[in-house]
Amino acid sequence: MCSKPLEEVSRIPVCGACLRAPAPLDAEFFCVSCRTPFQNRFPLDDEGRCALCRAGFRGFNAAHSFGFYDGVLRQLIHLYKYRKVRTLADPLGEMLLQALPRSEPFDCITPVPLHWRRL
Ligand SMILES: [Zn+2]
Ligand SMILES: [Zn+2]
Repeated sequence: MCSKPLEEVSRIPVCGACLRAPAPLDAEFFCVSCRTPFQNRFPLDDEGRCALCRAGFRGFNAAHSFGFYDGVLRQLIHLYKYRKVRTLADPLGEMLLQALPRSEPFDCITPVPLHWRRL
């Protein structure tokens, strides 16, 4: 990913710096349902829901994500999904685990599905 030579033997062909690079979402305001981050409180209603959730455009109780689908995190996910680097499952799973709330019980975790045209 960073083009530097790997110096340690690992089943993951990504250096430690790149693996540690993705940062968790850092925003002061989130929708309480879909967890979309916002820069201010303005888009959220009194219950903390965004306009899409108020309008009922969702088929889930809550959504959580580790970080923005961008930069190194996006590259890691692409390596896993499209280049089949399955050894990234553990580090990516650890990131997802950090994003899940410890206090809320849940029955099922599902990935965001493909766009219907690609499906
Ligand atoms: Zn690297
Ligand atoms: Zn929302």
